[in-house]
Amino acid sequence: MSGPARHDLPEADDFTRPYWDAAAEGRLLLRRCAQCGRAHHYPREFCPHCWAGEDRVLWETASGRATLYTWSVVHRNDLPPFGARVPYTAAVVDLAEGPRMMTQVVDCPAPQLRIGMPLEVGFGQLADGVWIPVFRPASQGQSSSRTQEPLARRR
Ligand SMILES: [Zn+2]
Repeated sequence: MSGPARHDLPEADDFTRPYWDAAAEGRLLLRRCAQCGRAHHYPREFCPHCWAGEDRVLWETASGRATLYTWSVVHRNDLPPFGARVPYTAAVVDLAEGPRMMTQVVDCPAPQLRIGMPLEVGFGQLADGVWIPVFRPASQGQSSSRTQEPLARRR
């Protein structure tokens, strides 16, 4: 590998590959347990609520709806390539299905961020074929689920 090290790329393995493949297609996947009925995120092979085994925990497509739980506007990050992206909004959101998720909020100036504001998922491109879920304010009309600019090129 040439060039500076990157610390933003996911390392997919056999278990998480469906999640990253779906993200590249514009879908956010969750894991839901058939034993207790609860969803979780990040993806785990066993249910973190009732410890049901992997044969009881299945992938499902999330609605993409969430509300903002908390956030922090990052002005400095020395870990490449994040330094080239500041300022950005690191956030924790509550998915409509229940799980809490670490992510970024895009397309929203910091003064307009509000706890509990409705958000919808979008996908930002990090590299060829690599897309990650991000969130933007909900109800922005008919915009595509893809962010207008690849994350790698966002200022
Ligand atoms: Zn369970």
